[in-house]
Amino acid sequence: MKIWLDGKLVDEQQAKISIFDHGLLYGDGVFEGIRFYNGRIFRLEEHIHRLFDSAKAILLNMPWTQEEVCKFTCETVAANGITDGYIRLVVTRGAGELGLNPYLCPKPSMFIIASTIKLYPEEHYRNGLALITCATRRPAPAALMPQVKSLNYLNNVMAKVEAIQGGALEAVMLNEQGYVAECTGDNLFIIKNGELLTPLISDGALDGITRAVILEIAAKLGVKVVERSLTRYDIFISDECFLTGTAAEVIPVVSLDRRVIGDGKPGELTRKFLAEFHSLAMSTGTPFA
Ligand code: PMP
Repeated sequence: MKIWLDGKLVDEQQAKISIFDHGLLYGDGVFEGIRFYNGRIFRLEEHIHRLFDSAKAILLNMPWTQEEVCKFTCETVAANGITDGYIRLVVTRGAGELGLNPYLCPKPSMFIIASTIKLYPEEHYRNGLALITCATRRPAPAALMPQVKSLNYLNNVMAKVEAIQGGALEAVMLNEQGYVAECTGDNLFIIKNGELLTPLISDGALDGITRAVILEIAAKLGVKVVERSLTRYDIFISDECFLTGTAAEVIPVVSLDRRVIGDGKPGELTRKFLAEFHSLAMSTGTPFA
């Protein structure tokens, strides 16, 4: 596997970064997860734009333009000779002193991996996922800006641990006020009386690129969208539920905390969103070769 690292495509074994890198020492950095389908990178510009927004928010000066980062990403995928997969693009603060002062890190490091990812077993895309609510909350915006896709994912990792220990594959994370924010790596949607509802970004959800795709599909299908604060109760009594994310794609949810959602099977509208998503993913995007 070829990895893009600080300007060069190198073999996986040669892709090394300093143990003094603040991405490793402090989670000081930003990242993106991007999928490519059928020889094209899906929503590449949107992902790179979000990466630059995240970097700006943490005062990490990017020494490349967005166009350059798009180009490096395409080069990395092309160098690996795969048509379908998942890209992990990471920008760290770079190597510095042991203290956390980021101003003592002279230059950021960037690496790009083009590989594959499988978040949930295939059967759940057909039969749906069972969710639990975890005790770990999304941090308040004043503690850790939820819009920043930073390397600080310990909160999500702990939520994932709770899900697995609770016998589930995914957990619903609430914000400090007790409203639904999102899952550990996915945005959440419910359908009630033919309307599509999803938590507000300001409730602690990442401004997901797949979330935006779903909102576009809803407009195309003429489904009314309501972005508002949601509680667990709203999910319990919903007709349908699904999650979205680059790695997860679109996956139906059939229960939350043992309350069966709808008739316990992936809903009709959910299946429509899933199909529309796949047809967009397979037919649009930035060619990389
Ligand atoms: N929430 C979190 C916490 C995530 O890590 C992700 C994955 N990037 C998402 C939501 C979904 O976002 P996207 O559709 O942009 O991948």
